[in-house]
Amino acid sequence: MSDRSVLVINSGSSSLKFQLVDPDSGVSRAAGVVEQIGEKSAEVPDHEAALRRAFDMLDDDGIDLHDCGLVAVGHRVVHGGNRFHEPTRLDDQVIAELKKLSPLAPLHNPPALAGIGVARKLLPDVPHVAVFDTAFFHELPAAAQTYAIDRELAERWQIRRYGFHGTSHEFVSRQAAEFLGRPWSDVNQIVLHLGNGASASAVVGGRPVETSMGLTPLEGLVMGTRSGDIDPGVFSYLWRAADLGVEEIETMLNKQSGVQGLAGERDFRRLRSMIESGDAAAKLAYDVFIHRLRKYIGAYLAVLGHCDVISFTAGIGEHDAVVRREALAGLGELGIELDDERNTTGSGARRISADGSRIAVLVVPTDEELAIARDCIGLLNG
Ligand code: ADP
Repeated sequence: MSDRSVLVINSGSSSLKFQLVDPDSGVSRAAGVVEQIGEKSAEVPDHEAALRRAFDMLDDDGIDLHDCGLVAVGHRVVHGGNRFHEPTRLDDQVIAELKKLSPLAPLHNPPALAGIGVARKLLPDVPHVAVFDTAFFHELPAAAQTYAIDRELAERWQIRRYGFHGTSHEFVSRQAAEFLGRPWSDVNQIVLHLGNGASASAVVGGRPVETSMGLTPLEGLVMGTRSGDIDPGVFSYLWRAADLGVEEIETMLNKQSGVQGLAGERDFRRLRSMIESGDAAAKLAYDVFIHRLRKYIGAYLAVLGHCDVISFTAGIGEHDAVVRREALAGLGELGIELDDERNTTGSGARRISADGSRIAVLVVPTDEELAIARDCIGLLNG
C-alpha cells in the first residue's frame, strides 16, 4: 500500500456514499454510506451533517483525514452536459457552470453540488475534482447520440443522448479486454451494468458506439425504480387525461416505476423469493426486465456486427446467476453459450461462457470509486 489516498464522494439526494481509496494499489481503506438525509425522522438534516457523519465513521475506523496522505477528493457528478467531459478541478467558476446544468439533471446534479459545497468547506486544503458519469459517452457516434426531433430545438436545449454510468462502462470494458489478454483497442464488446440503475453499452476498440441511457438516466433498460424506454406519449396522456403535473409524472417514472412499480419490490433477492412463492406481479416484473435486456443485447449485437465479449457487472449483474442465464438463454446460434457450473460458482472477474462459445461471457466486478480516484490522480499529475 502507498501512503496516498483519495476520498471519493457520491452524493445523492437522500444518501451520501464515501470511500477512501489507495489509488496506487487500488485497495479501499474504508467505505460507508450515510442514508436518509433530510428525511423527517432522521438525525441527518442535510448534506453537511451527512459529511460530518461520514468523517466520524472514518474516525471510528481509526482514519484521520488530515493524516492519511489525502491528495484529492473525487466527486461523482452525474451530468456533465455538453460542457464537461474530462475530470475537472472544481473551483468557483466550474461550480457556477455546473449549477447551470442542473435543469438537465434535476434529480442528480443538485445533490452532487450540495456534497461538493460542504466537502470543499470541510476539506479546503486538498484539490476537489469532478468526474462525470456522461464523460465516456461524450463522443458517441452522431447516429447514436441524436434524437430524431426538430434539430434547432434540440441544439438550442442541448437535447442529445448523453449516456450515464460511463465510469463503470469504461472501467469494465478495460478490465474485460485485460481479462482476455487483448488490447482494449482490439476488442468489440457489450457491457451490461445491472444495478438499481441499469444500462448497456456497445464498445468498439475502447470507444462506445451505443448506450442505453439518453438525455437523462431514465431511458433504456427496466431498472429498480425507473421505467426505462417508454412511449413519450404516455407522459402527455397522463398530463392531459389523469391531470398529473410534470413533477408528479417525473417522480412516477423515476421513483415509482421499473421493477418496483410493477411488483412493489426493487431488490432482486426479495423479488426472487416472491416469484418462488407464486407472486404473479413479481414474475411479470422480472419477465419485463429480462425481455427488455434481451432486446438490447440483440440490438447491440447488430450494432457491433462482430462481438468478442459480453460482460455483466454491478449488483445484479455480478450476483444474480439466474438473470445472467435467462438474459442469454437460447442464443447458441448467435455464438453465445454459458457454462452452468461457471455461471453459478466463483467470484471476482471470471469467464462464465462454455469453452466452445464464440463470444466470451464474463462477470467483471465494477469499481467506480477506484476509477474516480485514478481519474483524480491522472488530472493532478497533468
Ligand atoms: P446501485 O449502485 O445502482 O445502487 P448496485 O449495483 O449496488 O446498485 O445494485 C444493487 C442491486 O443489486 C440490489 O437492489 C439488488 O437488486 C441487486 N443485488 C445485490 N446483491 C444481489 C444478489 N446476491 N443477488 C441478486 N441481486 C443482488
